[in-house]
Amino acid sequence: MKPYRRRLRRCTKKLEGFLRDNFPLGKPVTVRWAKALPFSADEAKEMRISEEQRKHGCFGYCTTTEGKFRIQISERNDSLFLATDTLMHEWAHALDARVGRVEECRGDYHDASFWITFGNIKRVVFEALKAGDLDWNEVYYD
Ligand SMILES: [Zn+2]
Repeated sequence: MKPYRRRLRRCTKKLEGFLRDNFPLGKPVTVRWAKALPFSADEAKEMRISEEQRKHGCFGYCTTTEGKFRIQISERNDSLFLATDTLMHEWAHALDARVGRVEECRGDYHDASFWITFGNIKRVVFEALKAGDLDWNEVYYD
């Protein structure tokens, strides 16, 4: 694995620990990286996106089955900001408890309730950054 990829994983894992402590989900959650999370041909047609966008796919998504959450993050998130932002975004979906396979670009699950939840996560993360409890260089800056 390339050093930069290792760094993204290490930093994202650290943020995951912060989220587990500060925003417990009340159910088991796994966070995994995927090479890519492409959309299906049908999804791409419905979303009216190009073949290139279809292959790029989601930044991440969150699903839930049998009382567990599963968050996937795409390795196509090629900056620390994108990777950590995606993790916070998907964590907000899990907290909001309304998750789905294809929600990133369609926006079905991005209503006021979601954005309030996401905003609250970002507020707490920013407060921790300002207080020095999290490191800016491990959350935002490459
Ligand atoms: Zn989303």
